Amino acid sequence: MLVDADHLLATPVFQADRCSLGFHYLHTGYAIAVYFVLLFLRKPFNIIGIGLLLHMLADLIDCVFMFNHCKACFLNAPFSLHLSLPIFL
Ligand SMILES: [Zn+2]
Repeated sequence: MLVDADHLLATPVFQADRCSLGFHYLHTGYAIAVYFVLLFLRKPFNIIGIGLLLHMLADLIDCVFMFNHCKACFLNAPFSLHLSLPIFL
């Protein structure tokens, strides 16, 4: 999908065991917030928003599978601090 074009801006472009979410520009929390806002706009923007959010969900599932066998990958992920905060509260 076109949203993965942001991988070309990363160094290196491809790295095994790297979670896209929170790392690539179009996979950050701010971008995901924009995709959520798209849901409330007219066609075709809401359809695009659904597609982008489903893409983020697919990437999240991919990350969860990867983190399941690589704890260091989870600890090095940009958003791991945010995810682990509720555990300590
Ligand atoms: Zn992606």
